[in-house]
Amino acid sequence: RRPDRVKGEEEEEEEEEEEEEEMAQASSDAPSAQGDLRYYKLVSGHSIPSVGLGTWKSASDEASHSVYTAITEAGYRHVDTAPIYGIQEEVGRGLQAALQAGIPRKDLFITSKCTDLSPDRVRNQLTQTLKELQLDYLDLYLIHWPFHLKEDATRPPRASDILDFDMEGVWREMEKLVKDGLVRDIGVSNFTLKKLSNLLQCAQIMPSVCQMEMHPGWRNDKILEACKNNGIHVTAYSPLGSSRSDRDLIHDPTVVTVSDKLNKTPGQVLLKWAMQRGTSVIPKSTNAERIKGNIQLFGWAIPQGDFEVLNSMSDQRRAVDGEEIFVNKSEGPYKTVAELWDDEV
Ligand code: NDP
Repeated sequence: RRPDRVKGEEEEEEEEEEEEEEMAQASSDAPSAQGDLRYYKLVSGHSIPSVGLGTWKSASDEASHSVYTAITEAGYRHVDTAPIYGIQEEVGRGLQAALQAGIPRKDLFITSKCTDLSPDRVRNQLTQTLKELQLDYLDLYLIHWPFHLKEDATRPPRASDILDFDMEGVWREMEKLVKDGLVRDIGVSNFTLKKLSNLLQCAQIMPSVCQMEMHPGWRNDKILEACKNNGIHVTAYSPLGSSRSDRDLIHDPTVVTVSDKLNKTPGQVLLKWAMQRGTSVIPKSTNAERIKGNIQLFGWAIPQGDFEVLNSMSDQRRAVDGEEIFVNKSEGPYKTVAELWDDEV
């Protein structure tokens, strides 16, 4: 339960009913079932908005305003951030401004991530994150990646910078945060099938969400299927291919052809593709026009034929592969990107 405000069961039930109504409304309006949902239901029973604002690489002088604009002008209710993005305080200011403008906290879904992955650091890091975001609970707290880096790790890392990762110990601490009402849901990010399977064997509280890179240029089908089979919701990160110039999906001829045909922007087509696969999306933008355009995703669908064309893009590779942070080519322990991802393609 949240420490600030202990809700009666009746109040909680009313909230759930409201969310269910919204979901039912969304699905009855839907030209193509799940691709038009405004919320997805999590295994915990809570709901996650299908579109959120990403904040990685948001400039510190823009982050606060983009969060505020996204919530109050564009209708976003979901914001994704992390301490390592270095802008949580700015995100917090944007959230506070939106709350002061009258958006109820219970309507927002705020995600952050635990990066300092030693069991005895989990709670402190969450406390710091809550302070920076000026919140008293998070909706979702994710293990950012399944690696334990030393605090002063260099890039690329020295071999000694990569420490043993006590996955079970970290998860136990995350579970305690749920029990203490400091986070409503917990989940993972950048997990392989192997690591997810290990986690499921020791989890007392199921991960509600798995956040992974996904776009037509990196479909990541196997983890999507594994998550679906276990009732774990998937959020697609870098849904536009990130800001990497070598993974420019916005100008990809296949994407442009479909977007011209549907009279949508390439960004909208990429995001809708992800939603039609049942994943939520967290596109990053600090540009007001693109922030607004990136949530105009309801009431239309990518026809099956075009969806299949987008599904068949051949050049499958990650935009965000972790090499810079975790790979030490000569000393290891991870000498290649493939090793980092447990050789799963
Ligand atoms: P995205 O795929 O969201 O792409 C962001 C880039 O696209 C920016 O350069 C943005 O520029 C531009 N852009 C946004 N909208 C449009 C549009 N409609 N048309 C053209 N260009 C557009 O990349 P991210 O890598 O940022 O991923 C999204 C979010 O996912 C992150 O911000 C972060 O919150 C999360 N994430 C999580 C990770 C994890 O390890 N769990 C890893 C990576 C990301 P501009 O701002 O100028 O619009």
